Amino acid sequence: MREPLLRVDGLVKHFKLASSNNLIRQKPVVRAVNGIAFDIAVGETLGLVGESGCGKSTVGRLILRLIEPTAGSVRFAGEDVLAMKPAPLRHMRKDMQIIFQDPHASLNPRLTVEEIILEPLLSQGARPSPELSRHAADTLDKVGLPARYRHRHPHQFSGGQRQRIGIARAIASNPRFVVCDEAVSALDVSVQAQVVNLLQDIKDEMGISYLFIGHDLAVVRHIADRIAVMYLGRIVEMAGTESLFGAPLHPYTQALMAAVPVHHPRLRRERSRVRGELPSPLRPPPGCHFHPRCPFAQDKCRSESPLLRTLAAGHEVACHFAEEIAAAGRNTEASASREATDAHH
Ligand code: SF4
Repeated sequence: MREPLLRVDGLVKHFKLASSNNLIRQKPVVRAVNGIAFDIAVGETLGLVGESGCGKSTVGRLILRLIEPTAGSVRFAGEDVLAMKPAPLRHMRKDMQIIFQDPHASLNPRLTVEEIILEPLLSQGARPSPELSRHAADTLDKVGLPARYRHRHPHQFSGGQRQRIGIARAIASNPRFVVCDEAVSALDVSVQAQVVNLLQDIKDEMGISYLFIGHDLAVVRHIADRIAVMYLGRIVEMAGTESLFGAPLHPYTQALMAAVPVHHPRLRRERSRVRGELPSPLRPPPGCHFHPRCPFAQDKCRSESPLLRTLAAGHEVACHFAEEIAAAGRNTEASASREATDAHH
């Protein structure tokens, strides 16, 4: 079997916080990422979804070593990314890029668009030249902006245009892998669709693989081939996009889908039963982290952490009672559909 382009295994990131109380020796620890594993194939898009604070953006930054992991491994094109010294790491960044959420904050206001787009190449040692300038113009064209805009500054653009410039910067070095970190979340809904379509077109044309991080399942569904759902630093479900939407197995995934429009009110009610807020990653609940909010929680859930296990081909879930919950869901859907048919007659 061919090695995937990216292989992440046992990735952990714990942030130690400064303690405000001198009597407490042990510093509080934020368990942002707790043993994440996934592969991404050449040309594949993996969606990574979850509530704000679940650790998904930290995963993207760990892969690119913008922050250093506490443990785990990241292999890119067969290379051990975490073992790389600064020079090869800088070289590898040509192949691994990132698009940030806030196009306003992520673009240096003092640079022209051309300087911004060429930044990744200049940091690799390329020298300014007419060819490079033409490359900036061509890259702008790829993201749907006129070449003449390359002499302007970021403040002269709308939010959607600025994000196109952020995309141009990410693809200028012809990367093989791009982390899209909430890349459309700050945009108006109408602009979101255009930018998602643009990312899809670029992927098709350039054969790029994406890790597409987002909190809106409806948006992620449009672009992802597979989706991993994160909850408090762990992946709780991972499946092909259609499989996940066709039969979500984890109660948390089902709850997230409550925000995605479904046609039958009964199903909407069944799927909306998640309660409360995301607990603090400083003190994650023992056992299954989701148990305080889970309508199906039992004693075992409070003490034993469920492992991610395969329930159907390519469909993994971390829940002790996934089979029973899936069977209950099928019964509910069957009776809802019978009710709907009865009402129709
Ligand atoms: Fe709910 Fe228990 Fe499954 Fe966790 S393991 S999702 S608490 S049923």
